[in-house]
Amino acid sequence: MLEKSNPDEMQSYLSDASNLAGGHAARVVFPETAEEAAGVLREASAAGIAVTVSGAGTGVVGGRVPFGGIVLATDKLNRIGEIVADEGGGRGTVEAGVTLADFRREVESRGLLYPPDPTEWSCYMGGTVVTNASGARTFKYGATRRYIRRLKIALATGDLLSLARGEVFADAGGRLRIPLGAGRAINAQLPAYRMPQTRKHAAGYYVEPGMDALDLFIGSEGTLGVVVEIEAALLPKPEGVLSGVVFFTDEEKLLAFVRAARAASLDTRAGNVPGELDARALEFFDAEALNFLREKYPSIPADAQGAIFFEQETTEATEERLMDAWLALLERHDAALDASWFATDERDQVRLRDFRHALPVLVNEWIARHGQRKVSTDMSVPDEAFAAMLRFYQDTLRASGLQYVIFGHIGDNHVHVNILPRDQAQAATAREIYGRFIARAVATGGTISAEHGVGKIKRDYLRALYGDEHLRQMAALKRAFDPACILGRGNIFGEEYF
Ligand SMILES: Cc1cc2nc3c(=O)[nH]c(=O)nc-3n(C[C@H](O)[C@H](O)[C@H](O)COP(=O)(O)OP(=O)(O)OC[C@H]3O[C@@H](n4cnc5c(N)ncnc54)[C@H](O)[C@@H]3O)c2cc1C
Repeated sequence: MLEKSNPDEMQSYLSDASNLAGGHAARVVFPETAEEAAGVLREASAAGIAVTVSGAGTGVVGGRVPFGGIVLATDKLNRIGEIVADEGGGRGTVEAGVTLADFRREVESRGLLYPPDPTEWSCYMGGTVVTNASGARTFKYGATRRYIRRLKIALATGDLLSLARGEVFADAGGRLRIPLGAGRAINAQLPAYRMPQTRKHAAGYYVEPGMDALDLFIGSEGTLGVVVEIEAALLPKPEGVLSGVVFFTDEEKLLAFVRAARAASLDTRAGNVPGELDARALEFFDAEALNFLREKYPSIPADAQGAIFFEQETTEATEERLMDAWLALLERHDAALDASWFATDERDQVRLRDFRHALPVLVNEWIARHGQRKVSTDMSVPDEAFAAMLRFYQDTLRASGLQYVIFGHIGDNHVHVNILPRDQAQAATAREIYGRFIARAVATGGTISAEHGVGKIKRDYLRALYGDEHLRQMAALKRAFDPACILGRGNIFGEEYF
């Protein structure tokens, strides 16, 4: 098995997209099979050596940054297995180190769709599973969890577990018994918290009464086992897509449009109005975000106070009717239709998608120019709390005088607030404001992370959400799978809870 201990060769395994500094490890190992991965873990458990699992390093919360021990890199677990089409879509099997881009390419070449789309396609499939990755299309398709049918997991003890959905469930008392073969089993007690009832949630272990054991590993951020193989459900690829970037001169009207588009989409999906308006993505840009984008996109109307990017899947038979339905809905909410942009062919759609992706890139460039770190939120709140939460973000930030942009997945009540400090003093104010946003999100029944997870940099916020006792219960659950506490140390909760 390949190992690297030369500091220059190891460097790229000691960080991730969070820019969390100080990562260090004794060596990086590259298992090529599930058995090799399990062997590494067995030895590490026996010696009490910490193991940090590495995917592609696109995570933004420091989850794969090691602070000691060894790194288990999944790069060489990179084979694509069987992809099978069936009546309702299909299924595909991949190893953990296959990139999302490669998997999507294979799947789409067979006329199929793997819906999870966390923007950054260079991530590994294993990384997307343990972060339960989501993105713009989650509004229609849900997060990664919904598509995972079976996982092969190398446990810290050196056992290999193959677990399919529908095989093992928690009992009424929250106890899980996962058979390992030869009469052995893992016996674990689920923590007693209730997860926030938001459309998206990615903070801490997934816990629900009577839950499927498979769901515990999805979103476990490298703390319960190493995912080595994944079987995912696939859907038929949509025939066509209609998309638009629509501008509003009044934010209240924009918010009313979002509520109406969401209600119509949910009705369609519930089967009440089949074949009608059904957004796949509903993405928001506030007035500050549009100001940021104007330099690159001078055709953004001068009086626009916000914009929505939407996507709708179509067929040849429905495209015209659906375009009319969207135009009618937009007109009812006073969208600036003449100044808005629409696309039905692939070339124009790429332009609109580029517009959506341009903002985070421009923000990162701005941050780099000012030598600061952006302060970026990931909270989501229940439907009824969203409008007031958005107002709270804006009022607080306007009063602070700090520069900011607000954008993102408004269909799921999940917008990212990026605060852009110019110096250290502003950075301290930005962090204090972030704390206030967290307190408000928790108080309104929201989550502290809707999609990026907790990793090492959001642990304090998880404590604000669940409290110490529940963090201790999470640590006890981890010990049931990882008695020597070697895996993903410092992710989700600190070592003081072990
Ligand atoms: C520009 C940009 C945009 C992004 N947009 C989104 C978005 O819209 N939605 C979203 O959800 N995310 C987004 N992300 C975050 C990121 O892409 C996801 O979190 C991704 O799923 C992480 O995959 P990875 O392979 O890079 O994992 P890593 O960063 O390598 O690891 C992430 C965590 O998973 C653990 N891990 C990795 N592989 C395994 C494995 N096989 N078994 C056990 N543990 C493992 C690591 O230890 C770590 O804790 C974005 C990131 C960037 C840079």
